[in-house]
Amino acid sequence: MTSDALLKVHGLKKQFPIRAGLFGFGGLTIDAVSDVSFEVMKGETLAIVGESGCGKSTVGRCVLKLIEPTAGKIYLDGERIDGLRQRQLRPRRKKIQVVFQDPFSSLNPRMRIRDALAEPLENFRQTASRRETDARVDELLRMVGLPPDCADRWAHEFSGGQRQRIGIARALATNPQLVICDEAVSALDVSVKAQIVNLLRKLQQETGIAFLFISHDLAIVENIAHRIAVMYLGKIVETARTKDIISRPHHPYTRALLAAVPIPDPTRRRTNGVIQGEIPSATNPPTGCRFHTRCPFAFDRCRKEEPQLGDRGGDRFVACHLPELPEMPASTPAVLSA
Ligand code: SF4
Repeated sequence: MTSDALLKVHGLKKQFPIRAGLFGFGGLTIDAVSDVSFEVMKGETLAIVGESGCGKSTVGRCVLKLIEPTAGKIYLDGERIDGLRQRQLRPRRKKIQVVFQDPFSSLNPRMRIRDALAEPLENFRQTASRRETDARVDELLRMVGLPPDCADRWAHEFSGGQRQRIGIARALATNPQLVICDEAVSALDVSVKAQIVNLLRKLQQETGIAFLFISHDLAIVENIAHRIAVMYLGKIVETARTKDIISRPHHPYTRALLAAVPIPDPTRRRTNGVIQGEIPSATNPPTGCRFHTRCPFAFDRCRKEEPQLGDRGGDRFVACHLPELPEMPASTPAVLSA
C-alpha cells in the first residue's frame, strides 16, 4: 500500500445472484464489479466515472460495507476492513461517510435539521453535552454555507441544493477522513451543481478530507477530481490524472465518454469518438475485451484476450491491446447513455 494511501481496494469483485422466477435462483449471476483495484490518497479526490450500470456505485457500496463484496481486499488507513463484522466496523465507520444523490434518503422528514445533525454526533460520541452538540451543529451549518437558524427548520423546507448541503454537513459530523459522494450532484440544476462542487473543494482545502466521487458526468468530474478512473461493464479501463485524461484519453471508451460531454467553450476542440450500440448485459459479458462489441478499433485479439491494466507512464494505466489510440475520423456524435 502506498504510504499516503487512505483507501486501498484490491481485486474487488461483486456478483449478484439473479432470481430465475417465482421459485428461487437459477444459478446465474451478474458480475457487477470484476477485479477492480484502486487507491485514494489522503486529501485527494478520485472520481469513478462510467455509464449507468457500469458498477461504479456498487464499488462505493462495497467500500462502505453496505453490501458484502464477493472477493477482494479493502484497506482503510492501513487497516483491512472487508472482513470485519458490523460490530467491529462500527468504531471505524466515523472515518468514512457518504453523500447520496437524494439527500431526502438520509434526512428523516420528521426531524428538525438540528436533530438530524446531532444524531451522528451523539451516535459516535463526538460531543459531551447538548450544549456542545448545538455548537457543533451551528459550526457544521456554517461550514456548508448555511446560516445557523436553519437548524430549527424541517428538511422539506429546503431546496434540493440546500438539502444536499445539509447532507454534506451530516457526513462531516464525525470528522471523516473519506467521504464517498455517490452521484451527489446529479439531481441538481447546473448552477447548483457548480456551487456544491465548489463547496466540496473548499471543504477539502480546509479539512484535508479525501473524496471518492462517483459520477456519470465527466464535465462535473473535471472540476473536482485529481485523478479519474473510468469503468466499463464492471472493470476499470483507464486511470490517469484528470488533466491528462481530459486532454488526451488513451482508451477508446474514455474518448467516447469525453465526446459525449457538451463543451460550452468554443475555443476547445472536441475529440471525435463514435460508439455504437447499447452496453452489453453484465450477466453475459463479451469475451476478451468487454468493450469489443462497441469499439471502433476492435481486432481479432480483442475478441479472445482480455486486456489488463498496463502502466503507460505518468501515473496512467490503460486496459487496451492498442499501444496508442488512433485518430478518429470526424463523424457522428457518440452514442452513450447517462
Ligand atoms: Fe478496443 Fe481492443 Fe482496445 Fe478493447 S482492447 S478497447 S476492443 S482496441
